[in-house]
Amino acid sequence: MMLRVAARSDAGRVREANEDQYAILDLGHGGGTRMIAVADGMGGHRAGDVASSIALKELSEAVRGHSCQDGWLEVLRRGVERANTAVFQMALANEHQAGMGTTLTAVVLDDGHLFLVHVGDSRAYLVRDGDMNPLTRDDSLVEELIRLGDITPDDAKDHPQKNVLTRAVGTRPRVNIQTLSIDLEVGDRIILCSDGLYGLVPDDRMVAALARDGVEVGVERLVDEANQLGGHDNITVVAVEVASL
Ligand code: MG
Repeated sequence: MMLRVAARSDAGRVREANEDQYAILDLGHGGGTRMIAVADGMGGHRAGDVASSIALKELSEAVRGHSCQDGWLEVLRRGVERANTAVFQMALANEHQAGMGTTLTAVVLDDGHLFLVHVGDSRAYLVRDGDMNPLTRDDSLVEELIRLGDITPDDAKDHPQKNVLTRAVGTRPRVNIQTLSIDLEVGDRIILCSDGLYGLVPDDRMVAALARDGVEVGVERLVDEANQLGGHDNITVVAVEVASL
């Protein structure tokens, strides 16, 4: 598989610090097998920064240390559990980091397949034939309210509690993890992003930016666009194009 990968993370125009992080790991085959991940940390005293960093470090170590014989989904799942334990224990041990946590969305791309693990409200999308297909469900209060029929997706955009997560990495001793695997096609694009991007830039703009400019220029444009629309949160996007299988 040949992959084109591009990423950008930006503090945005309002927040002082950037508590988002991303990771891109080369897992072999000349960069044809990769892990990409996005984490959006939360917590006072800049603890969100600590949570997202630790989560990506633990996940990366778990994934690097294993071969795909174990099955990537299982490797990824164990990596998220390891990240959860590390963040949770550090939060217990440090008063300034009590309650910290992070979203964590990660995929391994290997031999024509995508394997995904997800916790929180960062997102993964598959762009195929010009359509934006969500690969994740937000673990958020507003997503629950939409599912229950209490509010509409439009209400959710300006909901006062739109940042409340129902699940995060590191806030509880155990974590529930969404998983998914799909077969890839040539021309597929995968986008991982934090809410600082998708909360401002509409889906069709994301599809258009990547289709018109390719992933390298596309991610730059998307972050610029989120900043032009206010940039009220940290903005992170990783985009991958499947150039050949
Ligand atoms: Mg955010």
